[in-house]
Amino acid sequence: MNKKIIKKDIENFFKVLFPINRSLTGNGNRKTLNEIKKYIPINVQEYESGLDIYDWKIPDEWKVKDAWIKDLNGKKLIDFTDNNLHLVGYSIPVNKKLNFKQLRKRLHYIKGRPNTIPYRTSYYNKDWGFCISENQYQKIKNSGDEFDVLIDSNLDKKGSLTIGEILIPGDSKKEILISTYICHPSLANDNLSGIILTTILAKEILKMKKRKYSYRIVWLPETIGAIAYCYKNSFLLKKIDFGLVITTVAGPGKIGYKKSFDDKHSINKIVEDVFKENSINYNIYPFDINGSDERQYSSKGFRINIVSITKSKYYEYKEYHTSDDNLNFVKSDYLLETLDIYLKIIKKIELRVIYENISHNCETMLSKHGLYPELGGNIKPDLNKKSELDKILWILFKSDGKLSTEDIANEIGEDHTSILKLSKMLERKKILRKI
Ligand code: ZN
Repeated sequence: MNKKIIKKDIENFFKVLFPINRSLTGNGNRKTLNEIKKYIPINVQEYESGLDIYDWKIPDEWKVKDAWIKDLNGKKLIDFTDNNLHLVGYSIPVNKKLNFKQLRKRLHYIKGRPNTIPYRTSYYNKDWGFCISENQYQKIKNSGDEFDVLIDSNLDKKGSLTIGEILIPGDSKKEILISTYICHPSLANDNLSGIILTTILAKEILKMKKRKYSYRIVWLPETIGAIAYCYKNSFLLKKIDFGLVITTVAGPGKIGYKKSFDDKHSINKIVEDVFKENSINYNIYPFDINGSDERQYSSKGFRINIVSITKSKYYEYKEYHTSDDNLNFVKSDYLLETLDIYLKIIKKIELRVIYENISHNCETMLSKHGLYPELGGNIKPDLNKKSELDKILWILFKSDGKLSTEDIANEIGEDHTSILKLSKMLERKKILRKI
């Protein structure tokens, strides 16, 4: 990878995408995906509003043209065009006069942070409001007692939710899922950085001359987008071995690593090996029910193991979900650092050697293949040390098309070289099949 060119791409993406007003739905999301489409050939799909998806429903499309608060002289005190965080996400249309007491209930600010605008949404509860800094709050308070408030928005029942997707084929039909969310407006680390990293990572995967795995990469609104995607692709998701959710990857904080729900799953070992081999210091976050779209992909029906590598992880930094998570907070070099880790993880994933036992049901008849001592009755398993026969039996037992030879070696406490050698022998005898 040419770091200089990629650094330029990162900076350009930050500049172009940061001002766009993204949400669960709407033109901002389409604009964002169209910018990505200029860089890599993604499919942009629309899922219609009102569609029932499991226990949820795709919301009406939020369209917003303008929003402001004016004093009685017509002077704009708050203007959505200055900063799209000013409007509570999914605010319903409003056009009225309010006194300060009435308006106050609609104003959100953070006490003690005079210049910081919080990020708030009201997706499923029809509501409206403005997010402002403490200084702006004081200014409104000192600007008389009557205000004109306008929110020129519309919730379109005939609208849709937009997602981006690319499927990059490999030799195997087995897939790796890579997912990032596109629903945050002008917030840089959470999660514009994730959108950019995912896009560049997809391009690097596309450039690989040979791929073992196929890669399913998606850009979608968090939670509802992931649920909609799972709903629409529930059958296809069965092909997924494991996945990565990419979020908050370009802050000044430490590298973080959120484990998948199954501690023992090989993706965790792959990540930890990359950290070890490259002497990377990191914070470890055990799997938790809170988080990002692993909440959907790892749910009962899918149970996909998902990890996230972060830099200034969501929830963990002061600027999170405020206007301070801006282009001064992130750096292209930080994003490059996280990208490099993700690329190393992909490289390691590609190096996995995976076999599947051809006998789907019950044991293979080893004597037929010249692998079993001829005189029966005499063989007692050695409980202290594994004989070659034991190793073969373990390999056949564990080769389910998911575990790599390295995973099997780790699970049975043997060295990888001998397990790999025996697996290759079993492949030559057509007892195992390479995945
Ligand atoms: Zn967020």
